[in-house]
Amino acid sequence: MSEPADEAGLKVVDAFDLDAQLRGLLRPGSVVRDHRGREHKLPRYFYEISSRDDAVRARLAPNFGLNEFIRVDLKEAPRLQEYPKYIPCAVRLLAFYLQRLRERLGASLHVTVNGGYRSPSHRAAVGATPHMWGTAADLYRIGSAILRERGSIEMASRVAEELSEDLHVKPFGHDAGQTDDHIHLFLFYVTGVPREMSEDSGDSPQASPRFAFEEPRRRSDTALPPSDSR
Ligand SMILES: [Zn+2]
Repeated sequence: MSEPADEAGLKVVDAFDLDAQLRGLLRPGSVVRDHRGREHKLPRYFYEISSRDDAVRARLAPNFGLNEFIRVDLKEAPRLQEYPKYIPCAVRLLAFYLQRLRERLGASLHVTVNGGYRSPSHRAAVGATPHMWGTAADLYRIGSAILRERGSIEMASRVAEELSEDLHVKPFGHDAGQTDDHIHLFLFYVTGVPREMSEDSGDSPQASPRFAFEEPRRRSDTALPPSDSR
């Protein structure tokens, strides 16, 4: 399921180099507070996805395409509903954990619309949420089971929390900070800086646009024996 080695990797951009409208919507480096008043700095490095086809083609993990994390509805700012779309680079880590959870549960995981990346300009945004870092996913279905009652939500939540200390799940319930019709799975507030980028302390548009393409994985360095020969 991996990309051919000669294919260019995803395009990474420094959000400070984007146009004023996008910078205003993505707010790279801005501080947002969570519901308890703790401050978190929004991500600066994003994947830029030029079209729906590219989003479908870009695999973050064997069973997760990038498209699954950028489906938004009308609550997202209009400019962010269009291509090119932007998603923080830390989404790679989320996909890694979701892949492991999928394998542990032995069933496909379905991310809701608006259940992947949500910008700080999203209309439902109230304070910092890992969705703004690309490190949270709302799951509404596991295999063919729709998650809308306590039993299935708590079972899958337990599996996720047992899988890794890095994975957190909002508890089941009907109050604020709880969920009763999906699983809200999240990691830390992770800010990814792809190694292809160089960082500086600037927080204003740069003189010339800077971006990079992720270097394709060199298969010969990392090749495992094919599974049928083990
Ligand atoms: Zn959520």
